[in-house]
Amino acid sequence: MSATFDVMSPATGKPVASVPDNGVAEARAAAARAVAAFATWRRMTAYERSAILRAWASAIMADEAALGRLMAQEMGKPITEARGEVKYAVSFVEWYAEEAKRVYGTTVPSQMAHKRLLVQPQPVGPVYAITPWNFPAAMITRKAAPALAAGCTVVVKPAEQSPLTAVRLAELWTAAGGPPDVFQVLPASDPAAVSRVFFDDPAIRKLSFTGSTEIGVLLAGQAAKTMKRVSLELGGHAPFLIFADADVDAAVKDVFASKFRNAGQTCVCVNRIYVHADVHDRFVERFAAAASTLRVGDPLDEATQIGPLVDAQGLAKVRAHVEDALGKGARAVLGGTAGEGLTFRPTVLTSVARGMRILEEETFGPVAPIVPFTDETDVIRQANDTPFGLAAYLWTRDLSRAFRVAEALDYGIVGINDGLPSTAQAPFGGVKMSGVGREGGVWGIEEYLDVKYMSIGL
Ligand code: NAP
Repeated sequence: MSATFDVMSPATGKPVASVPDNGVAEARAAAARAVAAFATWRRMTAYERSAILRAWASAIMADEAALGRLMAQEMGKPITEARGEVKYAVSFVEWYAEEAKRVYGTTVPSQMAHKRLLVQPQPVGPVYAITPWNFPAAMITRKAAPALAAGCTVVVKPAEQSPLTAVRLAELWTAAGGPPDVFQVLPASDPAAVSRVFFDDPAIRKLSFTGSTEIGVLLAGQAAKTMKRVSLELGGHAPFLIFADADVDAAVKDVFASKFRNAGQTCVCVNRIYVHADVHDRFVERFAAAASTLRVGDPLDEATQIGPLVDAQGLAKVRAHVEDALGKGARAVLGGTAGEGLTFRPTVLTSVARGMRILEEETFGPVAPIVPFTDETDVIRQANDTPFGLAAYLWTRDLSRAFRVAEALDYGIVGINDGLPSTAQAPFGGVKMSGVGREGGVWGIEEYLDVKYMSIGL
């Protein structure tokens, strides 16, 4: 194969590097290799697989600086955050290196004296994974680590904007002693054509997708033709509820961290901030003051806190959301306009109200819309009034309210006085149009296991 495509830096608009552009023929070959490799990988002991995963984790960690730089270059994440993502990505490989050894089966009592009933977990089979650009390393390891630990082989089609990190992860797999064809990365400029090969192949037993809800819905339909197991990590529209009894300074700190991480381009970052009227003005003043200190600039500069958005389309969506809100009566306390290149100035909007696009769709930018509320039941209703159900957050010092509200929120993840709940050992995933399945923890490996029931007559 001689075709390649360029990976562009959103900061400079120039190519960073080029990668092989895999097409249908390469996809067929990769699928066949993944199926062949599954026969041996699944038979290795969990201890052997665990050792390889540990070596991979060490290799990725040792490459932290280079991987961080690649991410900053290819998708514009500030370099300090990019190095943080490497640690987060490694945490999944480490955790599942251990979890490989804890895939337990079950025996079930029989009503007949001569029977023994056994339930044994087995790897699902070869996995096809499709990942987004916003976490070029972690969205891969969060799928690949549990799949590999379970005994599955994995082919990853990374996002077009961020294939360099993915390719590097595959090189590190090989360097760490990972067997050939067990973990493959397949950059492609025509994702639909390449993916069709995997969807049509009955030997590929699982689709794991992270990306937009629109594409997730489309791919779930395509995967149904060969009845694959499916995990979908899709879009979010996270509400933050800050009650009158909240520690406002702590809330400001956490909303700040969640909102502006990755320039607001994360699926769990706050999209709607509901603040009780009693603390609204205090919150707005402190939050806007904190946001005004953010340094926007070159992702490779150690001091940068907000880099460019990933592409012109992303910037256009953020701008459209802000202009729509301002046109309908919102007020920009801070920012409100695009900056240089593909950057958007950190923005704080008040007087945001129903009917504005920003309260209905995922913005994916450094924009914080603030909505006042007075009634608990009403704010829960507003928080749930969305097709999405990934992450929600609430701040209160009242323990009863914390449970009452958390249990009423239709979301897969609820942060209670915690703006950054994601961690390798906990279940990450959404309900409603935010997807099906979970990544992380024991739940994450179950996505890659089938159970075989054996009934034994003695
Ligand atoms: P996207 O446009 O849905 O793309 C995601 C992946 O799907 C990319 O690799 C893309 O390839 C591929 N793809 C697109 N069309 C396809 C098709 N017809 N057939 C096969 N593959 C196809 O999403 P994105 O813009 O990269 O990512 C942002 C979205 O991901 C946001 O909605 C965000 O909330 C969500 N997200 C969710 C989670 C979670 O855990 N729930 C985590 C991170 C991000 P190309 O790059 O070549 O187009």
